[in-house]
Amino acid sequence: MVSPPSAPPVAELLSVEDFQSLIAALPARSLAERQIGLDAALGARLARPVFNERDVPPCTNSAMDGYAVNAAELVAQGYRLPVSMRIAAGHAPSRLPPNTAARIFTGAPIPEGADAVILQEDVTLEAGQIHYPAQTPLRPQQHLRPQGQDMAAGQLLAPAGSKITPALLGLLAAQGLHQLAVQAPLRVALVSTGNELIEPGEPLPPGCLYNSNRYSLMALLHAWGQVQLDCRWVPDSLSATQQLLHALTTSADVILCTGGVSAGEEDHLKNALLQLGQLTHWKVRLKPGKPILLGNLPGKQGPVAILGLPGNPVSAWVCFLLFGQPLLNALCGTPDKGHKPYLLPAGFELTRPQSRAEFARAIYQDGLIHRLAEQSSGVLSSLHQATGLVRLPENRCVARGELLPFYSLNDLLYGSTPVATPAVGK
Ligand code: AMP
Ligand code: MG
Repeated sequence: MVSPPSAPPVAELLSVEDFQSLIAALPARSLAERQIGLDAALGARLARPVFNERDVPPCTNSAMDGYAVNAAELVAQGYRLPVSMRIAAGHAPSRLPPNTAARIFTGAPIPEGADAVILQEDVTLEAGQIHYPAQTPLRPQQHLRPQGQDMAAGQLLAPAGSKITPALLGLLAAQGLHQLAVQAPLRVALVSTGNELIEPGEPLPPGCLYNSNRYSLMALLHAWGQVQLDCRWVPDSLSATQQLLHALTTSADVILCTGGVSAGEEDHLKNALLQLGQLTHWKVRLKPGKPILLGNLPGKQGPVAILGLPGNPVSAWVCFLLFGQPLLNALCGTPDKGHKPYLLPAGFELTRPQSRAEFARAIYQDGLIHRLAEQSSGVLSSLHQATGLVRLPENRCVARGELLPFYSLNDLLYGSTPVATPAVGK
C-alpha cells in the first residue's frame, strides 16, 4: 500500500482565513439524490434549487378581526356603513356590495371592492350598521396582508445545497410541497486516534481516558445537518492508520479525524496521508488548534477529503466549527454564509501580544465580553460554561472597552444570519 510521498507539506502556518479559503475552494462532491417526505427533511440538503410555485399568502387577507371596508366609501358615508357580509378564514367571498362593510376575521380573504380593515374594538355596531369614529386614524391598506407578501411565485426560495432549517421547512410546507429532492446524507467517517482512548461504558484502565471527542463531534455533526456517520478508532500506529484511511476511501465522502495530527512520535496522521494521498496544508496560526491537517485520498468517486482535527477536546470543537463545518458545506455545495460575529466591547485587556489568533471562550454579560479564566485546550468544562468565543487579534494588545468580534456559540452551531445591519421593526 506504500506509495511515494506526494508534494512536501507547506511549512508556513496559514491564517484562519487563508485556511478557510483553501477549504471553500474545494469542489462539491457528487452526491446521490433521493426523495423524502417533509416530515423527515429537517437537516437534509436540497438536491436542486426550489422556486416558489405560488404566492404566499395566496390572496390578500385580513391581519385582524374587524370589518373590511372601502376607505373612501366609509369617509363619504359619514363613517357609517351597513354590514352586508360575514367572511371567516377559509371562505372565498364575492365582491363587497358598494357602500357596505363586511364582518371579517383574521386570515379571511379580503373581498374585491374593500381596501382596508378596521378593528372590531374601534367600531360600534348598532342595528346592523357600524360606526367608526372620524377621529380614529384610517390608513389605506391598513391591516391587510397583501398577496405574495411572504413569497412571490417564480422567485428562488432556496438554492441547491441549502440546509433544510426549521424556517425553510415551514416555507416549503407553505408552498404545498410534501416530497423533496434532497442529497443523500454526507457519509462522514469520524476517526478517533489514540491508544489512551476508551469508550464510555467500559472500565477505565490506568493511563487511559474516555473518548469524549467522538460524542461532542457527533453532536456537532448532527447540529450541522443530516449525515451518515461511521465512527472508528485507530491506535497510534502508522500502518493501522494507513489501513483504516485506505479502507475508508471506499465508504466515506469525507474523513474527520481527531488527534495524532501533531509532529510527535505517536502522531501518524500526516505521514499516513503523505503515503496514501495529498496533503493540502498542515498547521494554522490559531489558538486553540495549531496542528490541523487538510488533504485528500484517492477514492472511486473522486478524492475523499480528510480533515485532521487536534486531539484536545476544545481544539477539536473549535476547529470543527471554524473548518469542519465549512468543509462539509463545500462538499455539499451549500452556500456558506460564514460565521458573523457581533462587535462588542471587551471587559478585559491583553497586555502581551500573541503570535496566533485566539478564539477564547467567553461570556457576554452586562454589555461586556468576559474572557473566561480557564483557556486550556483540554478543559472542556469552560466551553460548557461559555456562551461564545471572542476573537483576540494576532500581534497586538487589546485595550479594555475595545470592540472585539464575539461569536455566539448558538450562531456557530446553527449558522448566523449574514446581515451586517439586520432589518429591525419599530
Ligand atoms: P493528540 O493530538 O493525539 O496528541 O492528543 C492531544 C490530547 O488530546 C491528548 O491529551 C489526548 O489524550 C487528548 N485526546 C485525543 N483524542 C481524544 C478524544 N477522542 N477524546 C478526549 N481526549 C482526546
Ligand atoms: Mg494522540
